[in-house]
Amino acid sequence: MTRKVSMFIDGEKVISQCKSWIPVTDPATQEVICEAPMATTEEVNRAIALKEHHDEIAEILAEETGKNLDDAKGDVWRGIEVAEHAANMPSLMMGETVENVATNVDTYSIIQPLGVCAGITPFNFPAMIPLWMFPMAVVCGNTFILKPSEQDPNTPMRLAELFYEAGFPKDVLQVIHGGKDQVNQILNHEDIQAISFVGSVPVGEHIYKTGTDNLKRVQAFAGAKNHMVVMPDANKSQVINSIAGAACGAAGQRCMAISVALLVGEAQNWLGEIKDKMAEMKPGHWKSPKSFYGPLISPQAKQKVEAMIGQGVKEGATILLDGRGLEVEGYPKGNWIGPTLFTDVTTDMEIYKTEVFGPVLCVINVDTMEEALELINNNPYGNGTSLFTSSGAAARKFQHDVKVGQVGINIPIPVPLPFFSFTGWRKSFYGDQHAYGKQAVRFYTETKTITARWFEDDIPHDSAPNATINL
Ligand code: NAD
Repeated sequence: MTRKVSMFIDGEKVISQCKSWIPVTDPATQEVICEAPMATTEEVNRAIALKEHHDEIAEILAEETGKNLDDAKGDVWRGIEVAEHAANMPSLMMGETVENVATNVDTYSIIQPLGVCAGITPFNFPAMIPLWMFPMAVVCGNTFILKPSEQDPNTPMRLAELFYEAGFPKDVLQVIHGGKDQVNQILNHEDIQAISFVGSVPVGEHIYKTGTDNLKRVQAFAGAKNHMVVMPDANKSQVINSIAGAACGAAGQRCMAISVALLVGEAQNWLGEIKDKMAEMKPGHWKSPKSFYGPLISPQAKQKVEAMIGQGVKEGATILLDGRGLEVEGYPKGNWIGPTLFTDVTTDMEIYKTEVFGPVLCVINVDTMEEALELINNNPYGNGTSLFTSSGAAARKFQHDVKVGQVGINIPIPVPLPFFSFTGWRKSFYGDQHAYGKQAVRFYTETKTITARWFEDDIPHDSAPNATINL
């Protein structure tokens, strides 16, 4: 029988189930050597689905964070994008060369790793944020110690397993679990050269201060309070969908969640529709396709958010939707909080000043975009912001004047793709070089600059030594 050529799918040799086979002939004799398959549609689709573990990791992630499945997939996918970017490392690690900076002298720079680096990550993106760090650090030539959040350690563990299955050398990535004490040990260990941190403001400040005091390189991404400015000329239905999704998605447990809407002029008339859209967003179990978002990560987190809502009411904000005390059928013990909407919020209220990290939106009315800009720029955080408008001139002014690191124009959550960097500002970031992209390469490496001369001619024995620094 003529030999059938197999295919490689999912790393294994498989014989096609197709009905159509093409004979492969020896051109010298016309003898049939074998038959090549015309793969079935299903086989081609399987081969294209390279990110084979994407869904599996998303399920582990959804189970331990409560995120709905689509959101969990987004968490994994945004991390895979960084890993793919890291695969392009040789071109990112290219140094610079200038020939003949002086006669027969060339200068060139080379990029070298630091040694041992460490990463400390938060609970809210257990796939994406570890993947911001270790693929970039390792392909820059470092070893990496990851200390993920103790609240959802399974997702990063699975990532580490897959990292080794992909063939990385033993020992370049370590994962240790723990909390404050283990982090402090990392901060004080003399062999660790650089620390990447993502988490809350008080911990970020502690990590930055202690790490740099120990003369380590530190980048610390911290909390946020993100404003969306809505101009009256914006596309109304896009605004309403975007606000509701960006405020309540992932139960508001995103550092880029929109927690304040600044409605400019006539846009204030849209408040009723914003309320209706938010009210539609029902939380539920991750396995239910009807769940817009999941529970908060812990009973403590729920308690904190409920206390913040109570404080908002006490301070005189008007509550239009109150998510406290919500029950989800079948899950009486879940950490549920329903969509919560405040209006008449002022900037001295705790609900405005503090990161709530729950599905809570504060609405403030302003007369002009300039007033909105002033308010945003006076807020201590600078992680993300967004402007909805149909005016190019307004957008241009906003993007230039706003003191926030990530700006969305008609985009509610502008998390940059990995060939850029994630660039929080002010109280949302401590350090110099940001996460992923070119800045991560600089963070995880040192630059060495070499100036070299190769002699063509000898010089007389009695020539005077050159006592200057001229080349
Ligand atoms: P967290 O600060 O409580 O914990 C983050 C990490 O620090 C965890 O690994 C934890 O074990 C460790 N840790 C906690 N307390 C510590 C202490 N006293 N000393 C040393 N280490 C300690 O943060 P979280 O609740 O896991 O995550 C939510 C926070 O992260 C929010 O404030 C959110 O805005 C922020 N965040 C920021 C970004 C960003 O890019 N700016 C992204 C995601 C999350």
